[in-house]
Amino acid sequence: MSSSSDPPVIAAAKQIAAEFEYSSVDVNRGVKEFLSEMETGLTTDGSTLSQIPSYITSVPDGSEKGVYLAVDLGGTNIRVCSINLNGDSTFKMIQNKDAIPQELMVTKAAAELFGFIAEQIEHFLQEHHGERYASHVEKRKMGETDAQQEDVFDLGFTFSFPVFQTAINRGTLFRWTKGFDIPEAVGQDVCQLLQDAIDRRHLPVRVAALINDTVGTLMARSYCSQGRSKALIGAIFGTGTNGAYVEKLARVKKLENSAESAFDTTTGEMVINTEWGSFDNPLKVLPDTGHDQELDRISVNPGVQMFEKRVSGMFLGEILRCTIIHMTKNPSLEMCGGPAVIPPDSALYKNWGIDTKFLSTVEGDSTEDLQQVKKELKSDLGLDHISTTDCKAIKILTHAIGKRAARLSAVPLAAIIISSGRLATDEPIDIGVDGSLVEFYPGYEKYIREAWREVPEIGETGEKRIQVGIAKDGSGVGAALGALVARQAERRKRGQ
Ligand code: ADP
Ligand code: MG
Repeated sequence: MSSSSDPPVIAAAKQIAAEFEYSSVDVNRGVKEFLSEMETGLTTDGSTLSQIPSYITSVPDGSEKGVYLAVDLGGTNIRVCSINLNGDSTFKMIQNKDAIPQELMVTKAAAELFGFIAEQIEHFLQEHHGERYASHVEKRKMGETDAQQEDVFDLGFTFSFPVFQTAINRGTLFRWTKGFDIPEAVGQDVCQLLQDAIDRRHLPVRVAALINDTVGTLMARSYCSQGRSKALIGAIFGTGTNGAYVEKLARVKKLENSAESAFDTTTGEMVINTEWGSFDNPLKVLPDTGHDQELDRISVNPGVQMFEKRVSGMFLGEILRCTIIHMTKNPSLEMCGGPAVIPPDSALYKNWGIDTKFLSTVEGDSTEDLQQVKKELKSDLGLDHISTTDCKAIKILTHAIGKRAARLSAVPLAAIIISSGRLATDEPIDIGVDGSLVEFYPGYEKYIREAWREVPEIGETGEKRIQVGIAKDGSGVGAALGALVARQAERRKRGQ
């Protein structure tokens, strides 16, 4: 609360901070809205919460064994790895990483990019699995088609572009993003494109699963957590935010008319990719300050990803920048020295000029005169000799924005936990998280937990039962686990 003895800068910062307060009532309204959107998304296509079936019908418990491959095609790099699952929640990973050549990102023929990926897989096998690879080549020369099957590696493919998935290893690309443009590939099954390229090189590799990174996070946590328990949710709070969770198949109404053969139904479960970044795009319940509106206006996609714009790393730095700019415009405050002192080329004046990493620095600086904050204001924003009071004002703003993000993050997690029914049983409630924000922002999990306790369905007792653990590398080990459960599902379907 502001007090009459506060310097004007502090009083002004506290006033802005108050706009970012996200109360218990707000949290509970958010949870109710999320529960309702979850339901709608499971029933119909085209709802704000996409609720995309991943066709992954079980999650691992840590006892799984074997060697699996994973390919991660991100925005700039291609990563090929093999993961040796030890069956005791641990694994060993070997990986190669290469930059994707620019000329393959924008080209006519899809075969060029996918051929390049297959070539990277071949190099990887020769380098790290030489014996198994050589044995396969030898057997193929001898014409032993059956025996060859033993050498075949199952591969999980993390393809970070928008696809419409129709089976565990089938998905149609509907749009390129991140600077890629290969028109021929649009409308095609990306798993088939990769498999064709692999087959042209006669590699002993089967594309077994197409894995979204959030689903991979869930799989990785489910395997790596202590004991034989399975995870419920995988959540990312990094550049963007999204979550995947284990849903009861009977509730996924929009799959009722799918062909029987499309997936394994024996587990009664389906992992759902919520795409919660677009939760409440119409802003029925989400907070909406002037600063949020300012950010939305300058974003490349106004009006969408509204939840993400209040929560994730890509945006929090910019929200902070908007609030500081707002203060600098009040001449009587002389915030950061005021416009006469702030260098005109300071990143403070540039859209997206503040990295969310800075918020972690501010929140974590507990020195009396905020030395680290001053250092980064100078190095990152070119702001010299900022007073300690101004730094304290920035800390007040930062804390408000970061804490609101964490409390908002509690909303989808709480809704999924409630909807799972696990609070009424003694089943574990385990969440795998990934992303720099949740990993490095001081107190992020603490604020999430505070909000959970304010949800009556969870309360103190429920909150204590929820486990949260960092699950790194969903696109490596998570994708490999996707390949493994795909193989298991196929065996179950064949009744083996
Ligand atoms: P990605 O989402 O691409 O997998 P990260 O999980 O590392 O990668 O998230 C990157 C985002 O996190 C960026 O928006 C960046 O601004 C933000 N970020 C990076 N470091 C930190 C940090 N220490 N604290 C808070 N946010 C951070
Ligand atoms: Mg990541």
